[in-house]
Amino acid sequence: MKVTLLASEHEIFANTYLLEDEKSGEAAIVDPAWYGDVIKGVLEEKNINLKYVLLTHGHFDHILGVYGLQKEVGAKVVIHESDAGHLLDPKKSLREGNFPEPQYPVTADITVKDGDVIMLGDEEIKVMSTPGHTNGSVCYILENDRVILSGDTLFCMTAGRTDFPDGSDEKMIASLKRLVALDGDYTVLPGHNRATTLESERKRNWYIRRMVK
Ligand SMILES: [Zn+2]
Ligand SMILES: [Zn+2]
Repeated sequence: MKVTLLASEHEIFANTYLLEDEKSGEAAIVDPAWYGDVIKGVLEEKNINLKYVLLTHGHFDHILGVYGLQKEVGAKVVIHESDAGHLLDPKKSLREGNFPEPQYPVTADITVKDGDVIMLGDEEIKVMSTPGHTNGSVCYILENDRVILSGDTLFCMTAGRTDFPDGSDEKMIASLKRLVALDGDYTVLPGHNRATTLESERKRNWYIRRMVK
């Protein structure tokens, strides 16, 4: 599977990734922060068959592009069942401030839970429930490519905030424990900041070193 950073948080508030199964031509976007020129341009230019919008959680900075992709492109919106309500309610998604895209209500097409698998062609995308930042936070794991799309759970050298209404420090620690207990190394592609690896985070992440071990 080809994984690219479609737009970075400096362009559209959160890192937005494109997953393409080159064999079947099917694609998914992870956390479309904003359905604007950047994403539209790539979809048109590459003539992409966008099957899914995969959401790591329901905060506004990851979901403002979802409405356009569902309505105009026809992609199916995938989110953990506990965060599905965030797509309907700007209070739950913590939408605030002056962002160019309004949050129109979106009904999730597919709600997922721990262990579910989403298929792109013959390629598996595994859902790992990682509550803590929000109750419905998930990581998407591409086993064949050894990639974890970690949303706002695991960041380079730190972890996501847990002081939101549906956040939990305890759950975050349990989620990070599960992530670091995975076998071997993975490339970690987070919702903010730069990419890292699981092995590097096991060794250097202050949050993991102090609170998990
Ligand atoms: Zn968030
Ligand atoms: Zn975020």
